[in-house]
Amino acid sequence: MNSQKGFTTRTLHSDRLAKPEFGALHQPVHNAVTWGYEQVEDLVNVFQNKAKGYAYSRQGNPTVSALEHKITQMEQGLATVAFATGMAAVSATLLALLKAGDHIIASSYLFGNTRSLMQTLMGMGLQISFVDATDGEQIKDAYQPNTRMVFVETIANPATQIADLAMIGMFCQEKGLVYVVDNTMASPYLFSPKAVQASLIIHSLTKYIGGHGNALGGSVTDTGLYHWASFPNIAPVLREQIKPELVGITQIRKRGLRDSGGTLSPEAAHHLSVGSETLALRMERACNNALALAEYLQSQPLIDKVYYPGLSTHPQNKLATQLFKRSGALMSFALQDQVDCLAFLNQLQLVIKSSNLGDTRTLAIPVAQTIFYELGAERRAEMQIPESMIRLSVGIEDIEDLIGDFEQAFGKMA
Ligand SMILES: *Cc1c(COP(=O)(O)O)cnc(C)c1O
Repeated sequence: MNSQKGFTTRTLHSDRLAKPEFGALHQPVHNAVTWGYEQVEDLVNVFQNKAKGYAYSRQGNPTVSALEHKITQMEQGLATVAFATGMAAVSATLLALLKAGDHIIASSYLFGNTRSLMQTLMGMGLQISFVDATDGEQIKDAYQPNTRMVFVETIANPATQIADLAMIGMFCQEKGLVYVVDNTMASPYLFSPKAVQASLIIHSLTKYIGGHGNALGGSVTDTGLYHWASFPNIAPVLREQIKPELVGITQIRKRGLRDSGGTLSPEAAHHLSVGSETLALRMERACNNALALAEYLQSQPLIDKVYYPGLSTHPQNKLATQLFKRSGALMSFALQDQVDCLAFLNQLQLVIKSSNLGDTRTLAIPVAQTIFYELGAERRAEMQIPESMIRLSVGIEDIEDLIGDFEQAFGKMA
């Protein structure tokens, strides 16, 4: 559709404009695993990338393609590949594009499971430097002749640090590095990584895009800004068959889906696609709630510190205001030393004790005891994660009810 149209208009009408059977407004759920052809030459052409079409559902399915198209439109990119989970998207991107002896520079504030994957890949011969990505100079200092990629997230989980996104983009452009931005936490509604020259944009669709905690999914979008002609790890057969701008994303699709098998199911793609239609509405409401809640929490005597990019006390508050439409719906807070954070969580009646984020419902989790438990107290201290930190994924409930829930919980703790 006309890319001049607004974000939500484009998302809502994207399936219909592809003209599914019988005028369906949604792309139907195609559960077939395989497709048959009258003429074998047509099947051969699909295999050899000479014709568009589907052969086997691990590497392509019309329901999944429709979701991929929606995400491409949201990110104003060139093409998208969807995966079974966000982690499948992250691992396929790294495995499809890198080899032993390559070096990458990654943020030291990565999502825990991405960090864990990177540790695994270091054991297989990949070199990785972890640096404080809020400071672009540290990225520059980590550069080596064999550096191939820089990997950052827009807003880090749980302490909400914001990477020096624009400066890193300029550096990657200058050095010819693939610039991967995991945009899960901002979502394509709040921020377009293409604006800071990202090459590839990753999403956990499980979070804000799907938005309802009812399906897992992941995606990788090529923005079209990276010149794959100069990237050494592209298979020669793809260089022969595929347009130069599409070789990177095609290798992620072919090798990524083939090797990992992390294929998104058509049922999940349908749930995620319907969920994505209200992304802008949900984000506006959740961001309003998050800001109000952050301001409320900051004023409470039992709270030591609130981590939220929308607060003027946040170290990257200016940057967040420049880059993002709103400040996001994820925040953390640390309680005063004398308050037991587990006892406090147990007093909350509406806010759910749960590990997901990006849900319509507000979810809270104690960080040191769960998602950062395996790191141990020493590493947590190094990473400036207080033992009483609670992460909140703010949902779309009525704000009076959210504040009321905290109010009654503080009352019981006092
Ligand atoms: C959740 C998350 C992932 C992984 O996504 P799954 O769908 O849970 O596999 C990756 N990156 C970020 C920033 C996330 O929040």
